Order: sequence, then C-alpha cells, then structure tokens
Amino acid sequence: MRQPIQAVTPKTEYAEVIGWVHEVRDLGGLAFFVIRDRSGIIQVTIPKKKVTAEVLETVRNISRESVVRVRGQVKAIEKAPGGREIVPEELEIISLAESPLPLDVAEKVPAELDTRLDSRFLDARKPRVRAIFFIRSAVTCAATAFLASRGCINITTPKIVAAATEGGTELFPIAYFEKEAFMNQSPQLYKQMMMAAGFESVFEIGPIFRAEEHNTVRHLNEATSLDVEVSFADHNDVMELLEDLIIHVYETVAKTCSNELAELGIELAVPKKPFPRIPYIEAIEIANRTIEEKIAFGGDLSPAAERAVGDAVGTHYFIVDWPTDTRPYYAMPYPDRPEFCKAFDLMHPRMELASGAQRIHDYNLLVERIRAKGLSPESFEFYLKTFRYGMPPHAGWGLGIERLVMTMLDLGNIREAVLFPRDRHRLTP
Ligand code: ATP
Ligand code: MG
Repeated sequence: MRQPIQAVTPKTEYAEVIGWVHEVRDLGGLAFFVIRDRSGIIQVTIPKKKVTAEVLETVRNISRESVVRVRGQVKAIEKAPGGREIVPEELEIISLAESPLPLDVAEKVPAELDTRLDSRFLDARKPRVRAIFFIRSAVTCAATAFLASRGCINITTPKIVAAATEGGTELFPIAYFEKEAFMNQSPQLYKQMMMAAGFESVFEIGPIFRAEEHNTVRHLNEATSLDVEVSFADHNDVMELLEDLIIHVYETVAKTCSNELAELGIELAVPKKPFPRIPYIEAIEIANRTIEEKIAFGGDLSPAAERAVGDAVGTHYFIVDWPTDTRPYYAMPYPDRPEFCKAFDLMHPRMELASGAQRIHDYNLLVERIRAKGLSPESFEFYLKTFRYGMPPHAGWGLGIERLVMTMLDLGNIREAVLFPRDRHRLTP
C-alpha cells in the first residue's frame, strides 16, 4: 500500500511509495535517485549487483519527472534526506517523462518567470512553488471559515454583465449573442443587491477582470477578490471586520503551514490590532515629505507615495477619509463635510490590499452622485431599483487575494501568487 513519503521514517521497515523522479545519479556500481511526492522526498539506492534484472532494466530507462512506484526495505542512513533510504525490490515506471524537460524541477538550473509560467505544471511541482499555493489555499479556507463564523452568507454573482460597475474604461467587452456584454470588474453592485435582499451579510471569493493596459508586478488582468457587504454597518464596523479577518488568516497560516513557511524561509509576524487609521490628508503629507513627484490634494497615491507612507508606518494600516471625488459614486459622503467620504483603503507597507466604504443607501443621493460622475442613471436601473424598496444602511470592502498572499510571503511579483496569470502578454497556458 502506498505511503506518503513524509510518513516513511528511519524506523520504518518496509515501504511502498509513488512519486516523481526528482533526481537521478548513476555512479557505476551504485545508482541513486530521489523520489518526490507532495509530502517530501526520499532517496532510493540501487546496489546494481544486488537487485533483480527487472529493476536494473527499469533503472536504465528511467528519466527525471517520470512517475514511479518503489517498494522495498527502508534503511536508516544519516546522510540521506530525512535520514532514510529505500533499497528497491520492485521498481515500476508508471508514466515515463520525456527528456529533456522544459524546466528543471530540482532547480539546479534557475529559470526566468516567463519560462516557469510557460510550463507551470512542472513549475508547481517545485516544493517552493507548491508551498505558495498550499498557503494560498489555507488563506482562502481560513477567510471563508472566519466570515461564515461572523454570519456572512457565501454568494456567487455573475461575471458576465451588461453594465460597468463604476463606468470605467477598464472593461473587457465580450460578444453575448446579439448583445455586447462585459467581464465584470467587481461584484460591487450585485453584492449590494443581495445584501438588500435581506441576506444582511454576504461574501464572495471570485474573479474580477480589469482591462488595465499597464504591466506591473502587482496588477493582473484577472485577479481574485474577496468581497464583503454588511447591512446596518458603517465604515468603522467593516474596517474592524477586515482587521480581524487579516489577523485570523495570518494566525491560521502561522499555525497550520509551518513546513511551507520554512520552505519559503518566512518567519510570519501576525499583525496586531488596531491597525493605525491615517486620514488621506495626513497620508499625502507623510508621502510628500520624501517623494519627488508630490501628490496634490485629490490625487490617488502613487506607488512611490504608498511606499513612503508604508515605510513611515511599518505595519498594516488604513487610509481613511478620502476626498469624495477620488472614490466611486456609491461611497457615502460625511454629512457635515461632503467633500470627504467614509471610504478607506487597507494598506500593507508595500501596497494597497483592499478598498471599502460605507455605501450610499439613499436613492436620491445615489442618483445625484451617479450624475455627478458623468454617468447615466438609466444604465444602472437594475441596481438603482434595489434602493427604492427598503435599503438598509450598509458598508463593505473588496480585498485582493493575490496581493494578500504576495505581501504575506514577500513575493516579488504578483504572478507568483496565481497559478495561471493573465496579463497583457499572457493568455496561455
Ligand atoms: P490599484 O489602485 O492598486 O490599482 P484599485 O484601487 O484599482 O487598485 P480596487 O478597485 O479598489 O483596486 O479593488 C480592490 C482590491 O482588489 C485592490 O485593493 C486589490 O487588492 C485588488 N485588485 C484590484 N485590481 C487588481 C488587479 N488589476 N490585479 C490584482 N489585484 C487587484
Ligand atoms: Mg482601491
């Protein structure tokens, strides 16, 4: 019976493992190879004079990354990985890999990111890469469990839509029978509608599509967003929820992914509550002290500005009280100073992770804000209708999963945090 490689210890007497051939070495009288499954690696040693002719024949034909089954005695041996090796009585090639490999899984030969992504199925066999995606899985599972424990209902909203969420130009048009449609840039409008439907608190983890032309290390054209919308809540309530979620996710990863963190050489520090709340005006002041291209009031923070504030703060933090004009039409202005709104961004010292706000729930104000943005309320009728039939006050946010993983694991490029990145130049695999 097959055992996970990690379960084979120096005390095991006899084992059968199935995995990929990670390394092959032939020293004449002795051949070694290393077998890998997702749990670890084990050395297989073949004293050529002592094994059967069948085993010898297989050794001759074996190639790296072939899938093999090995059965034999386990010997404790200090120098081998994990302090043990198998001497095979049976050795079977289950699936022979072609040579040469398009990518070296053992990482003896380093490869550029593009080459790695071209053969992502091989790249993901690397323990380091597998560790990233194991942690990403822990992140989304922990977030889901956390939000369910806070009473949020998990929903799914359409990704093919008729109208832009924010009327922006960053949309991918698609042919939808006789009509033009778009890939949705955010579940914003739909999550608000479902929350209004009486679900009260909803969340979704799903794709968002942005037709941004720029090529950066922190933008994808298809990203994954964790979206939340909560009734009878204001911006402060949902900032606290977001803060608790980040801490819970970090704690869970620290607790359950110690092998993967070690593989990546990361000592994970769990952020502490409360994250500082820095008003927009203060944030641009802090940034303008050090950056060359100053940010004028009403401007978005440039990457350099985000880094300058991040360096000054040094932890996760929120930028709050944004000028109303910088935010989408659905952000709620402060009643006593409507030029500012109840919007916020969650920041990691390196970059923005999430954007959120208390939303406008008053129909007339919302129509006014849509008009003020130069958009036409008619194209939002399906959404606006919701606001005429009992709309609770509400707030929410959208958090980028890839950026969360990227910053948590200190990855240099967001493409490291997604299996099959979509960017300006990449549509396959
Ligand atoms: P940025 O200003 O950094 O480009 P944004 O403000 O346009 O981001 P939002 O519309 O606020 O992004 O989306 C909410 C979150 O979703 C972002 O904070 C980010 O984590 C993630 N996100 C948005 N667009 C992208 C993208 N193109 N690639 C990766 N993640 C994204
Ligand atoms: Mg944003």
